[in-house]
Amino acid sequence: MRVRLMGTGGADGVPGFFSDSRVSRYAREHKGKDIRTRAAAVVDDTIKIDLGPDTWYQAMRDGLDARDWTAVLFTHSDADHFAPDELMYCMFPFNHMEYSGFTIYANGFICRRILEKFPEWPFELVMTKSFSPFVHGGYRISPLQAHHNPSEDSHNFLVQDGDSTLLYATDTGIWSEPTWEALRHAQLDCMVLECSEGLASTAYDGHLDAHEFLEVVERLRGMGVVTNETQIVSTHHSHNGEATHDELVEFFAPHGVVVGYDGLELNF
Ligand SMILES: [Zn+2]
Repeated sequence: MRVRLMGTGGADGVPGFFSDSRVSRYAREHKGKDIRTRAAAVVDDTIKIDLGPDTWYQAMRDGLDARDWTAVLFTHSDADHFAPDELMYCMFPFNHMEYSGFTIYANGFICRRILEKFPEWPFELVMTKSFSPFVHGGYRISPLQAHHNPSEDSHNFLVQDGDSTLLYATDTGIWSEPTWEALRHAQLDCMVLECSEGLASTAYDGHLDAHEFLEVVERLRGMGVVTNETQIVSTHHSHNGEATHDELVEFFAPHGVVVGYDGLELNF
């Protein structure tokens, strides 16, 4: 399996859209891996995870063709992950397609939003529920409950192709027990885990800071879900996390964690 991190930033990106934070200033000056667009990924060029406001730019930057997508999976409805207006460009009158080339998998809240916005458009919608796996193409996809926004069923995704297993876990704090339980028998080849708060922890428990990130990794290691073979990669970094890319690399290096950046491709 191959996963490309198309975006690795927090809600307002890095540099922060309207921010003069230290990390934002650093990113504006140094660019490179410190520029983080809104969090998103694509698996094997076909399974798109989240469709945020930076999608067009990300696809162009990385030379990706959105017509390759057969599925668009949504984790939750926050604006950095769900930019519904972008969906309409996939069919007539913006091209000659009568239908979208992909199935949309999303929780009930997002499905309703799409139906309200595009009542006449023939989108293929499949409603997802945490802990109810589904099959798409050759992939078994298990939505797990993220600890994020209690007003909707926010997901992290376990993606399995028969050979390899990916956990894509953006926008979550420390999981509730049912999610740990659902992971009990998994063996991860790659885990992409959020680290929104970086080195600046806040009272909000719907995101992880760098220390909580390592707590999650250690608990999964103790369960045998993460092993020395697992690629562990961070994503969803906020400019308010008080850490540049290099500072995160320095923090995580002793723990074997790869600090994610826009365009990073992982093979496993
Ligand atoms: Zn987010």
